[in-house]
Amino acid sequence: MKIEEKLYQNRYRVFEGEPHVCIDPTKADVEALKAMVNICPAGCYVETEDGKVEVVPDGCMECGTCRIVCQDTGALQWGYPRGGYGVLFKFG
Ligand code: SF4
Repeated sequence: MKIEEKLYQNRYRVFEGEPHVCIDPTKADVEALKAMVNICPAGCYVETEDGKVEVVPDGCMECGTCRIVCQDTGALQWGYPRGGYGVLFKFG
């Protein structure tokens, strides 16, 4: 089974209106965020036409990679989702 097929088995419970990953809009063009477009395993980051980066964390796997990569930039607010929300991993 391919990794994409395994990831597709995960489920996500999104807490509407309270994303657990947010970008500071004044810092949405920093290089570390642009790198996340290629690094995030869930494809949550996209670069817009004006060269800024947006995040849609609905499919976030809570791996913490973006938190580490961007920790010195101050561009990202990152926390685990509220209890009962976020990714629900299915193993096997
Ligand atoms: Fe992507 Fe991981 Fe950051 Fe979630 S925690 S947005 S999966 S890099």
